[in-house]
Amino acid sequence: MLRGSCLCGAVSYTAAGPVESASHCYCTMCQKQHGAASGTYANVARAGLTIERGEDFVTEYASSSHACRAFCRQCGSTLFWRSEESPERIAVTLGTLDTPFTDPVEIELYADTKPSWLPLANPD
Ligand SMILES: [Zn+2]
Ligand SMILES: [Zn+2]
Repeated sequence: MLRGSCLCGAVSYTAAGPVESASHCYCTMCQKQHGAASGTYANVARAGLTIERGEDFVTEYASSSHACRAFCRQCGSTLFWRSEESPERIAVTLGTLDTPFTDPVEIELYADTKPSWLPLANPD
């Protein structure tokens, strides 16, 4: 069972396992929405996702004809990504998890638009 919440705490959720996959998505829409190099997600069964608190704060933005991105309207935390092309699945953002997530992130999506400023140019 994964448990997560947004930055302001208005929204909390649980996602029943198992996690089918975890991915870093470097598409330009994820970069814009997250304000970061990627969106990072765990792909779970939509039927197992429960908004435990703050459902009124969860707002969706349709970023394409098939995909919706959910965020907290109070603090802006990105929470979920879902597509009508796979209605039985939903992706939860790893950064909002409060429970440990120790599985490896093994998938990179849209690596062709990965920013040149990743990884560190001068590690150490
Ligand atoms: Zn919030
Ligand atoms: Zn993306």
